[in-house]
Amino acid sequence: MSSFTSSPYWSTGIDALHAYVPGEQPQSGGWVKLNTNECPYPPSPLAIQAIQAATSEQLRLYPDPHGTALKQAIASHFGLGVDHVFLGNGSDEVLGHAFMGLLKHSLPILYPDISYSFYPVYCGLYQIAYQQVPLNVDYCVDVADYRVPNGGIVLPNPNAPTGVALSLEQLRTLLIANRSSVVLIDEAYVDFGAQSAAALIPEFDNLLVVQTFSKSRALAGLRVGFALGHPALIEALARVKDSFNSYPLDRLALAGAQAAIVDQAYFEKITQAVVDSRDWLTAELATLGFQTLPSSANFVFTTHPGHAAADLLAALRARKILVRHFAKPRTHKHLRISVGTRAECEALVAALQHILGASANPQEVSV
Ligand SMILES: *Cc1c(COP(=O)(O)O)cnc(C)c1O
Repeated sequence: MSSFTSSPYWSTGIDALHAYVPGEQPQSGGWVKLNTNECPYPPSPLAIQAIQAATSEQLRLYPDPHGTALKQAIASHFGLGVDHVFLGNGSDEVLGHAFMGLLKHSLPILYPDISYSFYPVYCGLYQIAYQQVPLNVDYCVDVADYRVPNGGIVLPNPNAPTGVALSLEQLRTLLIANRSSVVLIDEAYVDFGAQSAAALIPEFDNLLVVQTFSKSRALAGLRVGFALGHPALIEALARVKDSFNSYPLDRLALAGAQAAIVDQAYFEKITQAVVDSRDWLTAELATLGFQTLPSSANFVFTTHPGHAAADLLAALRARKILVRHFAKPRTHKHLRISVGTRAECEALVAALQHILGASANPQEVSV
């Protein structure tokens, strides 16, 4: 990051923006990367083939600005009409357009106090008033807490960085109590153990479901996200998009994402492998004395009563293992650890055994 905090050349308000800080992406090799919830497995071979096939002289032409073929593949996957689908350059862009196009009203929007840290950034960018609703003592969302007048509701399901999921029935209760504002469910991690609210779209014209190809489809580098909802909601997103960038998805992204969503067998294989490793890792962490929230995602949120999370992060880093720590009031005791391959999970557990063992025994040198 540069050291400039303001400049007379900047537009009004830019010096007050608090931009999102993504997790570290080391540009050298040799790291066990368990810090940004990427998929530890490669994308579908069919997606790679489709991207290679699209790498042709056709790149001189603009892509389809509507991404119709990909929209059709997504719509048929969810049993919805093409007019219920919106595409964006990663779900972060879809979320940004939704904040601007659907969530700016006179009343503040609501989202949990522990949640995706991009939400306050969009609120700052678009000048949207918000109110954070505290998770309960078990770090769960209580949908009854959202029964207050609001300008919209944003919930990740499963929540990030806790990994805890709401059931479809709890979401239905929330939607019934909030028919007059938009309810946005951010389903970045839904494929690892929660039920998609997409099934509720025919019942609720105020429901917007946002998903991504970055996690369960192993395509974080391709930048493809999408929203599902009533065509009137989709139209607001399309207007914002076409006022900003008419071609957010390039030809390679459109081709790769379409092949990935069609390859259901591969998708099921890699998500099941992640779920199995998550359950193995959770049990191993318990043996080491960690307390882990029940995760329906591809990461775990875990705390050790005898060790500061920031110290564990530093000790793991010294062993070339990256995990994530959020130095905020209710999260500073926890680490968020992405589920890697089984070998990566084993390397993490072995490192933690050494770190915890070393600090229990002062004769050994700790890192
Ligand atoms: C990863 C993530 C996203 C963004 O994913 P993209 O790579 O931009 O598609 C959105 N919401 C949550 C909660 C996430 O963790």
